[in-house]
Amino acid sequence: MFTVDLDKIQRIPVPDSVKRALREILGEDRVLDDDMDRMLYSYDATRIQIPPDVVVIPQTQEEVQKIVHICYENGIPVTPRGAGSGYTGGALALKGGVLISFEKMDKILDIDEENAVARVQPGVVTFTLQKAVERVGLFYPPDPASYKFCTLGGNVAENAGGPRCVKYGVTREYVMELNTVVHTGEIIHTGKPTLKDVAGYDITRLLIGSEGTLGIFTEITLKLIPKPKAKKTAKAIYKDIASVGETVKEIFKAGISPSALEFMDKLAINAVEDFGHFGLPRDAEVLLLIEVDGHPKAVEDEIKEVARICELTGAIKVDIAQTDIEAEKLWEARRALSPAVAKLNRTKINEDIVFPRSYLPEALPQLREIGKKYNLKMVNFGHIGDGNVHANFMINGLDPEEVARAEKAVEEVFDLALRYGGSITGEHGVGITKANFMPKQFKPQEMELMKKIKRVFDPKNLINPGKMGLD
Ligand SMILES: Cc1cc2nc3c(=O)[nH]c(=O)nc-3n(C[C@H](O)[C@H](O)[C@H](O)COP(=O)(O)OP(=O)(O)OC[C@H]3O[C@@H](n4cnc5c(N)ncnc54)[C@H](O)[C@@H]3O)c2cc1C
Repeated sequence: MFTVDLDKIQRIPVPDSVKRALREILGEDRVLDDDMDRMLYSYDATRIQIPPDVVVIPQTQEEVQKIVHICYENGIPVTPRGAGSGYTGGALALKGGVLISFEKMDKILDIDEENAVARVQPGVVTFTLQKAVERVGLFYPPDPASYKFCTLGGNVAENAGGPRCVKYGVTREYVMELNTVVHTGEIIHTGKPTLKDVAGYDITRLLIGSEGTLGIFTEITLKLIPKPKAKKTAKAIYKDIASVGETVKEIFKAGISPSALEFMDKLAINAVEDFGHFGLPRDAEVLLLIEVDGHPKAVEDEIKEVARICELTGAIKVDIAQTDIEAEKLWEARRALSPAVAKLNRTKINEDIVFPRSYLPEALPQLREIGKKYNLKMVNFGHIGDGNVHANFMINGLDPEEVARAEKAVEEVFDLALRYGGSITGEHGVGITKANFMPKQFKPQEMELMKKIKRVFDPKNLINPGKMGLD
C-alpha cells in the first residue's frame, strides 16, 4: 500500500519518434527526458517516487491539445501535474509515458470585478489568485494548507478543501467553467460564467475531483465573493477529545457558522512547537482554533459567544487573539502541521477521513484507540468543523512488521469512517494510495458505473491511468 513495486506495473515507454514529434511542437527546452529531470518530476507529497519517461512543459492550450493527440494516437499514457503537492500519488506517471507539467501555464487571464469571476490557467498558484483578487476587494475562499505552492488545476482535479471550507464550501462550489482537453485532443468547454445554468448534464461537476483521469484542464473560470470585512480567532484548550466534539456541535447549534474550526491533538501541538516555536501550550491534550468572519460588529459578538460555548462544553482555557498578528501566528502554526508532523518518523501515512459532524464526539475517541491498539505513533488534527480528520500514522517504513501493523490500522480507520456514514477521503483524493479501498466505499455496480464513465472519456485508458481503482 505504501510502496509501489514498479516491476509489477506494466509501463509504456515513449518511442523516439514520439519524442521527436513532441520536440517539434515544444522545442528542445520544454521536452525533458534525461535522468535528472525525470527524477525531479518523479514524486509528490506521498514521497513515492515514479519517474515519467518524458516531461513536457506546454505554454498554451493548443500545445496541450497537440501533446494529448500525439500521445493518444501512439498509445502513450499522459499524466497532468500541478505542483506535485498531492497526498495520494495522483500526479505520478504510474504507467510511464508523458508527464505534462503546468508550471508555465500560470497566468491569471482576467479578473472581472463586476461579475466577480476570475479566469485562470491551471498552473496559477492558489495564493497568487487569492492575493490578486483581495487587492480589488474580492475573495477566493478555498484554502488548502498547501495554498502557497499548490495550483488551481490540482485543486480542481482534487476538489481541494481547507480550513475555510467549513463555511464557504470546497473548490467545487467556485468552479464555473472548465476548458478540458480530452483524449482526442479536442477542447470540451463546460459550464457558464453565470450563477445559474441548468442546461444539460453538469459535466463540470463530474470533472471536478476526477483527479486528472477524464481529461486535462487548460482554463478555469472561478467564482469570487466579497471579501469579509473582519475576522477574529479564538484558541481553546481541552483535557479530552470528546469535549471538542461537543463544542463543535454546540457552536453550530447556536447558529454560528465559523469560517474555520480546526483541532490538533497533543502530539500535533508538540510537533509544531518543535518545528517553529509558535507558543502553543505543549501540555494541552487537544487544542481548538476557531475563526469567525463577517461584519465587524457581528464578529465581535460571535467570537465572545464561541468562547462561552467552549467553556461550557469543557474547555479548560479559552483566549481570543487580540491582534491580527497574534491570530495569523496561530493559523501559521496550523498550516505548519503537515511538514512538522512529517519530522516525527521516516514515513507519514496521512489519511483524511470524514465523519458526519454530529458523530464526532463518539468517533474521535475510537479513532485514538486504533493507534493504541496497533502500538503506533498516531497524530490527529484537521478540519473538525466539517468532520474531516487527518489521521496520521508516523512509522518507520523500512520496518516490515511496523508497516504491516500500520496497514491494518489504516483499514480500521477507513472502516470507522464508513461505519458512521463518512468517507475514506475528504480532500486528498484516491490516487494510487487509496485505490484498493474504493470497493469498501462503493458497491460493485457503483464502481462499474465509474469505470464506464472513465471508458467514455478515455477508451484506451491512457489519461492518468492506474488511479482511483478504475483500471
Ligand atoms: C503541506 C500540505 C498541506 C496540504 N493541505 C491540504 C488541505 O488543507 N486541503 C487539501 O485539499 N489538500 C491539501 N494538500 C494536498 C494537495 O496540496 C492538494 O491536493 C492540491 O490540490 C494539489 O495541487 P497540486 O497543484 O500540487 O496538484 P498535483 O499534486 O500536481 O496533482 C494532483 C492531482 O491533480 C491532477 N492535475 C493537476 N493538474 C491538472 C490539470 N491541469 N488537469 C487535470 N488534472 C490535473 C494530477 O494528475 C493529480 O491527479 C496538502 C498538501 C501538502 C503537501
